[in-house]
This record gives sequence, structure tokens and C-alpha cells, in this order.
Amino acid sequence: MAFSELGLSPEILQAVSEAGYTTPTPIQEQAIPHVQLGRDVLGCAQTGTGKTASFVPPMIDMLAAGRGRARMPRSLILEPTRELASQIASAFEVYGKYHRLTMALLIGGESFTDQEKKLDRGVDVLIATPGRLLDLYGRGKILLQDVRILVIDEADRMLDMGFIPDVERIVGLLPKERQTLFFSATMPPEIKRLADFFLSDPKEIAVTPPASPAETVKQSLLVVGPADKREALFRLIRSEDVKNALIFCNRKRDVDLLSRSLARHGFDVAALHGDMAQARRTLTLERFKNGEIRLLAASDVAARGLDIAGLSHVFCFDVPHHAEDYVHRIGRTGRAGREGRSFMLAVPEDAKAVSAIEKLIGREIPRGRIDGLAETPLEFVPGGSRLPPRVEGRPPRKSFSSQNVPRQAKRRPENEGQREKTSDPRREGGPTITGNPQTPRRNGDTDAAVGFGDHLPAFLARRPKHTL
Ligand code: AMP
Repeated sequence: MAFSELGLSPEILQAVSEAGYTTPTPIQEQAIPHVQLGRDVLGCAQTGTGKTASFVPPMIDMLAAGRGRARMPRSLILEPTRELASQIASAFEVYGKYHRLTMALLIGGESFTDQEKKLDRGVDVLIATPGRLLDLYGRGKILLQDVRILVIDEADRMLDMGFIPDVERIVGLLPKERQTLFFSATMPPEIKRLADFFLSDPKEIAVTPPASPAETVKQSLLVVGPADKREALFRLIRSEDVKNALIFCNRKRDVDLLSRSLARHGFDVAALHGDMAQARRTLTLERFKNGEIRLLAASDVAARGLDIAGLSHVFCFDVPHHAEDYVHRIGRTGRAGREGRSFMLAVPEDAKAVSAIEKLIGREIPRGRIDGLAETPLEFVPGGSRLPPRVEGRPPRKSFSSQNVPRQAKRRPENEGQREKTSDPRREGGPTITGNPQTPRRNGDTDAAVGFGDHLPAFLARRPKHTL
């Protein structure tokens, strides 16, 4: 199928063609006709599938006729992180270049005054992180009764970051008569119930099985002794044909330590994590995307969903504690059909986390070895759980109990202690803390609602009407 068969306007087709795309990706082919018909959509798709262009171009066409009144946006796109919100704003500029729609990007860490001025002039498309949107709403700077199209993007990430109560509040402020497009990389039961609450008779589209890493990424696992990890990374980078690479660490502190160490060893590297000021985050990312920096040491929060054209390598310096983070990490490469390469460094005690990843992706990650470094087997500790709390300050998973807290769990989670200038740091679109991860939940472990803190929204108690 060609884009021209999708019923998009000539202006959009021109912009799409200038962006270099001729054939829609499966999510675009399946979602665009339903979006155009005004139907709700429940899309199970991860970034890298062309998800953004499955809703941005038809939205532009649908909004083309009217104009946003002062402080009353006509459409709203909610994104969990500032970087993702900025990425969507760039997509609007690309696909909307032949339209005269106005857009505002409301993200934390940037001036309220500029954002308020834009809102005052009237916007057709509002792209926001939940916290900043609620802040502006609370100050009376924005009215939401004109929103006719709502996009909730990366819903599973919203859940992980504890934003769902905010999203729920925002949806409660919108008109009931609206079109809702809801996207999530994975569809755990909490997300399905959420979708059931927000959507009305949605068209369900799933383009890749949840949690399947792109087929175009060639993966390797290297098991080394803890003292050899950095050396292993240096050797890998030197021996591979690395054009540009993301290097993931589990903790922000390690992102800084590792990037300093890489710089000392002569590598062209910068760090990206949620504790950095927004201006620095944006600049660092720009420089990396422009090819001015070759290596970017990053945390999961900062790098989630980033679309970096032609990223050649992903290195997991740490085995992620939660298997799905592995899928998101390596999914930064091998995008849009290009070949990518990923390496994960593990130490023997990562055995359990590695097997959880392999179970999730349904295959064994091929083992590699590094010349000059001793090979070390993974070590399984019978009965021992190595699951610490989520590094982004999420509350514990159901299986987490204070009895099996491993040593790492005592470390500060990635965003612990982060405070921003607003009354609620979570509202800045940055990461959040939803309680002390080591404190057993009030009602015991089994009824914890992941990502909701102590708040159990009413819809979670309801039975889902549909499943994917
Ligand atoms: P997304 O999943 O929206 O983050 O998009 C992933 C990448 O695919 C981005 O670099 C897009 O520019 C690119 N892309 C989007 N649509 C197409 C298409 N139809 N053909 C090829 N690449 C595309």
C-alpha cells in the first residue's frame, strides 16, 4: 500500500513524501483510516514502529478546518517525558509544514511565561507532560472543554512513572464527546483496564507482539567479573564499528561515573539522566542527535522512546532489573528497518535477571566473549530473588517483599531525592517517587497497584469490557 491510498490530504502527502516515506508502516496502515473516521483507537505498538505518524498526519487533517481559541486547545497529546513530548512536537512540524496549525509544547523545566503566551494566542495542538499541564490548569491558564481529540501515548510508561492519577484527572477535565487514541508498548492488565475506562468501542491494533525486540537488532550477552565491567565496555567500543551508541546504566549516579570514566579514557561521551536541568538535557540530546557526541551514557527514564536516526549500537552496562526495560533499551537501535547491534554486560550474579529477559523475549541472547578478559559463568542462587524496586522510583511490584531485598535495593532509586521547582516534582513530566520502595505496602504486597502509589483508582476495581 502507498500513503496516497490512505485518504490523507495532498498537503500531508507532500510533507510525508518530503520526509522520505513512501509506504506506511503496519501501524500507520491500520490506524490512520480509523483515526480519520473519528473512532477511538487502542494501539499496542512500541516506538520504532512509526507509531507517531499513525496519529499525527490524520490529526492535522482533521484539525485543519478550525482554529483554537485563546487558552482552549482543540487537541491534546499526553507524553510521559519531556523528550518524547519534544519528539512529537518535531513530528508535528514535519508533517504539518503545509498547514497553518498552531501548537504548544508544555513541558517541565521550561519557562511558564512563554508557554502561557502561546496558550493565550490559541493553540490547535497541545503536547504536554501531565504534571506541567495540571500546573497550568491549576493557575487558570488553560481550559480543556474544547479538546476534541486526546492522545495518550506510551501509557505503560505513564503507569511506570506514577502519572496515571494525573492522567485520570486530566481526562476528567475533558469533554465526554471526544476521540481518544491510546498507545502503549505493552498491554499489562492495568493498562487494559485503563484503556477500557478511557476509550469507547475502540479499534484495537497490535502491530508487534508486546515485548518483542526488533528483529533487526543483533544482540549479544557478555558475562564478566564485576571488576572487569568497565574494561569490557572500553574494549567492546574500541573493537566494534561504533558510529554512535547509547550506554545504559541502572542508576543515575552510575551514568555520571561511567561517563566521566569513559571521558578519561579518551571517549567522546556525554551523560543524560533525569537529575540534569532540562536545558542541559535538551542540548546534550541535540548534540548527540547531530553527531557532535558519539557516546551517550543514559538512564532508562531519560532515553526511553528516543528516536535517534541510525543509532548503530546500544550497550547495556548493567542488566536492567525489569526485563521489559531491556526491550526498550535495545529498541533504540535497529529502527525503521536498519540494522542495529546491542551488547549487554552481565556479572555472574545477574543470572536471574538475564533469564527473566530471555523468558520475556522468548529466546536466548547469544553469548559473546571479549579477548583478554576471563569468561565467567552466570551464577544462579537457589530461591534468591534479585528484584530490587524499579529504579525510577516506582512502587514495588507484587512479588517484592522486604524479606528478599537484595543489596542493590538499599541503594537510592534513580530519581530519589529529585526535587524540582514546582510544588509537586512529579508534575514536571520528569520521574517521580511514589513512596519508599522498601516500605511494605499498607495492605500487604498482593494488592499493590503498580505505578499508582497509594492511590487505587476506581476503574481498576472494575472488570474490563474487552481485552486485546
Ligand atoms: P516512531 O515509532 O513514531 O518513533 O517512528 C520511528 C521512526 O520511523 C522515526 O524515525 C520515523 O521518522 C520513521 N518512520 C515513520 N514512518 C515511517 C515510514 N512510513 N517509513 C519509514 N520510516 C518511517
